[in-house]
Amino acid sequence: MRKAVKKKKTSSKKSSLKKTAQKSLNLQIGENIWPAERDVLFRPDRLKYVRKLIKDQGCVFCFAAKNEPSFETLCVHQTKYSMVVLNKFPYNSGHILVLPKRHCGSLLDLNQAEYEDLMSLVKEAMGALNSVYEPGGINLGLNHGAVAGAGIPDHLHFHMIPRWSGDLNFFPLVADTKVVIESLETSFDRLVGYFKTHKG
Ligand SMILES: [Zn+2]
Repeated sequence: MRKAVKKKKTSSKKSSLKKTAQKSLNLQIGENIWPAERDVLFRPDRLKYVRKLIKDQGCVFCFAAKNEPSFETLCVHQTKYSMVVLNKFPYNSGHILVLPKRHCGSLLDLNQAEYEDLMSLVKEAMGALNSVYEPGGINLGLNHGAVAGAGIPDHLHFHMIPRWSGDLNFFPLVADTKVVIESLETSFDRLVGYFKTHKG
């Protein structure tokens, strides 16, 4: 009986040692794992980036073309074959993109109906910028191909940028000078409002 108890005690001691060893191992594993997890958990900006990398949503313009105009896609207006999208990283207030709905990287590959619809929308969008922003001038440009500077070369897009006299002061030498760029939300509301009231 005594022997049995002693054996039980030894066994319990062994089990306890095993548990401590396991705990220590878990801690070691934890220490190895946590720094990486912490890095993600406490840096939401990085988490977004990681998610973006994992979840490839494909062409942002095609996604906009497949959906109704919304702030999520930054699309403010659509016609049969074309659309107007806000530039997510505007050079100036009211910086828009005018582009075909179809995923196409070359102007030469558009059929006649798509081309005419696109050019008609370029004109309409220029009218929209003039009316909403009353700029002194407008830059209209197409970076045709990656070598020419296209950010999304496989889905062609015209840039249209309202310009005002003196707006090149992005890096002001005078400390008090401040450049204010309209928020994307405001640009979205103003341009959606324009296209809703000026159909065709
Ligand atoms: Zn596309």
